[in-house]
Amino acid sequence: RKGSVIVTGASSGLGLAAAKALAETGKWHVVMACRDFLKTERAAKAAGMSKENYSIMHLDLASLDSVRQFVDNFRQSRRPLDVLVCNAAVYQPTAKEPTFSADGFEISVATNHLGHFLLSRLLLEDLKKSDYPSKRLIIVGSITGNTNTLAGNVPPKANLGDLRGLAGGLNGLNSSAMVDGGNFDGAKAYKDSKVCNMLTMQEFHRRFHEDTGITFSSLYPGCIATTGLFREHIPLFRFLFPPFQKFVTKGFVSETDAGKRLAQVVSDPSLTKSGVYWSWNKTSSSFENQLSKEASDPAKAKKVWEMSEKLVGLA
Ligand code: NDP
Repeated sequence: RKGSVIVTGASSGLGLAAAKALAETGKWHVVMACRDFLKTERAAKAAGMSKENYSIMHLDLASLDSVRQFVDNFRQSRRPLDVLVCNAAVYQPTAKEPTFSADGFEISVATNHLGHFLLSRLLLEDLKKSDYPSKRLIIVGSITGNTNTLAGNVPPKANLGDLRGLAGGLNGLNSSAMVDGGNFDGAKAYKDSKVCNMLTMQEFHRRFHEDTGITFSSLYPGCIATTGLFREHIPLFRFLFPPFQKFVTKGFVSETDAGKRLAQVVSDPSLTKSGVYWSWNKTSSSFENQLSKEASDPAKAKKVWEMSEKLVGLA
């Protein structure tokens, strides 16, 4: 049978490119889990994806009710779940004030981390039931969460601190909107959310890999300077960022190539090792990359896991 994969945020950028790459193999049915149904339908058509290779299901990661509803709907579809890709994200680098999710959490950590945390915890049960030879749970990471790299050291740097804001619910009322309890900074909130993503992947690996055989992985696909992720940045930045990445850092990767990299992590028989953060070198070969000290701290991963469980109503 065909593999069955859910990709969140498949309406644009990396998620769409990966969905297309997987659909084109004819070996995968892609469930595009998106907040804007019509936009996704148009994007899939424009990408030339053929009907029998995908379906679209509504998912708004900035609402825990929506996440639960998505899981119910997916189960009713009676499709098996072989691979889950947590890809969707928001980035608000120029926001002066925080905005909040349906549940009152700062929107970037709510969408990028907490929504995906609940989704993957619930769907773990479905992954366990799959009889597919290689079951995987992939959480897209980012170099920006890696303070052990040059790009990860561009201020404001990711730093989860003692997690006091997360513990307080990131609501901007009786707690800070930032994980570390500090003043709001949209770019930092994104980077912090990506560190939470990478810590979550490793905690999943420690808790569930041995018993379930599921491969848990994360990746940095390269700098895809052309995606919608930068839509809220100032125009000058959007103009200069792609050539800067192409010619100065040489980290630039096209959406198509980045999509192929993510598709590799989904389906390549050689990428089955669990607990790995994949990256690609200049010749586009994958390698196991090192995470920063904070993004690989098991004690922090455990704390983030336990606090997130409380916030999403699992504990
Ligand atoms: P895009 O902005 O193009 O794609 C983001 C996707 O997330 C869109 O489909 C968007 O939906 C979706 N999304 C946003 N909010 C929600 C929500 N509340 N519920 C459901 N879906 C939502 O950005 P990219 O393709 O660049 O980003 C994809 C991933 O790649 C992210 O995890 C990002 O951190 C990561 N990444 C990107 C890099 C880059 O250079 N671009 C580098 C490293 C990692 P909609 O279309 O409705 O807005």
